[in-house]
Amino acid sequence: MDQLVIILLSFLGILLLSLIIFLILFLSKPDSKFGKKKVPEIDKIILMNIFDIYKTIQYAWASFDIVPLKEYLTIPIYQYYIQQLDILKRSNQQNIISDIELIEILKIYFRPIENNQERIIVSLKTKEYNYVNDTNTGKVVRGSNTTKIINKYRLTLTRKKPSNVTVVCPNCGKTTEYSSKGECIHCNTYILGQEYHFIIEKIEKI
Ligand SMILES: [Zn+2]
Repeated sequence: MDQLVIILLSFLGILLLSLIIFLILFLSKPDSKFGKKKVPEIDKIILMNIFDIYKTIQYAWASFDIVPLKEYLTIPIYQYYIQQLDILKRSNQQNIISDIELIEILKIYFRPIENNQERIIVSLKTKEYNYVNDTNTGKVVRGSNTTKIINKYRLTLTRKKPSNVTVVCPNCGKTTEYSSKGECIHCNTYILGQEYHFIIEKIEKI
């Protein structure tokens, strides 16, 4: 009887050990969206935030909604977009963009620059429906509405590190300044304020 208990316990022990090993391997497996190397959580949040900005801009562009464009683009790029949108509108065309999927987003460079600013350069690979419709006939005049296209961009973004800006942390409720990484100085929660968001400085198709 004792022997049976020992065998049973060893069996359970081995089972538990395999489970732990499996969990360690599973949890440390890098997310392919962020490349082959392991990326810190804080970087993943920043990168996903940049992907969200990309999506916001694409959808805003597609629906002729200029407000997000103004909010997330530098003035020269914003003006260029407005000009291009105007050309589309006048030729009765609309660029339809839908179902944007993230394939890969990689951090190339992230560094403070002058005047309390930070600059980040990322490469972004997406898959999306992206075509041009004639707004009168509803017919596709450029691209395809049945096949997704793959886009590859290099985005340069900057954000200004606010000096003396205090906010109430949504996590711990304390009044805080932003740390150098945009975190609450008390609980290290990433808090991205409007005054602390990235603006696209350059979009290059690669
Ligand atoms: Zn906090």
